[in-house]
Amino acid sequence: MPHDYDFDLITLGAGSGGLSIIERAAAYGQNCAVIEHGRIGGTCVNVGCVPKKIMWFAANLAHTLEDARGYGFDIQRHGFDWAQLVAKREQYIDNINRYYHGYMAELGVTEIEGSATFVDPHRVAVGDTVYSAKHICIATGTRPVLPQIPGIEHALTSDGFFALHEQPRRVAIAGSGYIAVELAGVLAALGTAVTLYLRKDHVLREFDGMLQTTLLEQLEHSGIEIRLRSEITAIERGADGALDIDDNHGERMTALDAVIFAIGRSADLESLRLDLAGVETNDAGFIETDLYQYTSQPHIFALGDVTGRAPLTPVAIAAGRRLADRLYDNQQGRHLDYRLIPSVVFSHPPIGTVGMTEEEARAEYGERIRVYQTRFTAMYNSISGHEVPTAMKLVCLDDEEKVIGCHMIGPAVDEMLQGFAVAMRMGATKRDFDDTVALHPTSAEELVTMR
Ligand SMILES: Cc1cc2nc3c(=O)[nH]c(=O)nc-3n(C[C@H](O)[C@H](O)[C@H](O)COP(=O)(O)OP(=O)(O)OC[C@H]3O[C@@H](n4cnc5c(N)ncnc54)[C@H](O)[C@@H]3O)c2cc1C
Repeated sequence: MPHDYDFDLITLGAGSGGLSIIERAAAYGQNCAVIEHGRIGGTCVNVGCVPKKIMWFAANLAHTLEDARGYGFDIQRHGFDWAQLVAKREQYIDNINRYYHGYMAELGVTEIEGSATFVDPHRVAVGDTVYSAKHICIATGTRPVLPQIPGIEHALTSDGFFALHEQPRRVAIAGSGYIAVELAGVLAALGTAVTLYLRKDHVLREFDGMLQTTLLEQLEHSGIEIRLRSEITAIERGADGALDIDDNHGERMTALDAVIFAIGRSADLESLRLDLAGVETNDAGFIETDLYQYTSQPHIFALGDVTGRAPLTPVAIAAGRRLADRLYDNQQGRHLDYRLIPSVVFSHPPIGTVGMTEEEARAEYGERIRVYQTRFTAMYNSISGHEVPTAMKLVCLDDEEKVIGCHMIGPAVDEMLQGFAVAMRMGATKRDFDDTVALHPTSAEELVTMR
């Protein structure tokens, strides 16, 4: 036995974060195990990015079929087979699960099925078996939160949405974050009547104001009923199986097929017994880590959603890979830079955003900020007759006009953002944008021709 522990590294959770560190650590020759009580791949693969994007593609196709009429096609829609799409989607996910199991075996990683609980700082129990490791990485993610209201057992979360094998015809969704608006957009595009309950009067609270107002407008325009400053206060299931809900204004909606809450996610750490490992959590209930993913215990690390920082798959992956590089490949100082993380919302139309919002930049730099903004209808939409706005904004700093924020909403911006994020990481200025020859005719060219 080359060392005193069963493994060099045990990862708790086989989601985006857990798999990324384990994969790289194993490639560096470490003896690794991963403990998972659900499906390999975690949230992103099974009940997050992947199934969501497939539903988004379906919703886009529904829009495209409408748009085709504007281009002269004589198109009749003869229904949509939700069950068929869900079956294909789940098959696709099964294939990813299978691929990961094979990949772990190839790398020599031990997969342990079950729920992990700390016994002490170096040991973790799964059922009656205890495993020890030199390093432990907590990547247990988050779970959707539900409010404590009467009848909440009848409600779904995003997990429940992905388990629907029949298309719901009338749905109420509570929430203003990206998951709520994405699910609302998908359902509406596929023909479900959607009512969106917003606790305040905006969506996407942390995003640039231009994105918030444009998306809200667009949600309404697409036929979604928006209820501002409204909260669902009770749910009741009638004898016919349909759901009725009450809200804080005393109004009742009846005959719903589903009520979905997408109001946030929490780390749900109780069963891990972090107290036995000496790992501390912060006031928000996430595991506190520094830039190097250290927890309060020097050989225990945490990454991904469980840290409450930028809860996105590529963030969890990047943090895991960098941590493995540092621990097992002597790449000293290597860590994830949490600034300038790009993100996309798969709404209709999509949103792409990176860097500071105008509001944040003004609060920090005041008059030193210059903002360039444009709004137009893309050529494609002008012909289709489906009025969809495209809006773009660059937030620039000081006389050199370094671009510190780039925010876009409109068709195809999800695929536009990545390259601009690279440019911003390299410190691009407005002048660099202006000096880049445009691609014509595209919507993207507006970003390098803004006045
Ligand atoms: C509906 C939805 C859509 C999303 N869309 C996007 C998107 O488009 N783009 C994007 O970048 N991100 C998206 N995300 C976020 C993304 O899924 C997460 O950021 C990512 O999965 C985080 O990875 P993680 O490894 O931290 O956690 P997870 O992927 O959640 O993995 C944690 C794993 O730990 C397991 N686990 C928990 N506790 C234990 C325990 N005690 N013992 C054993 N195993 C345990 C869980 O079963 C889970 O498999 C979406 C999320 C949701 C819910």
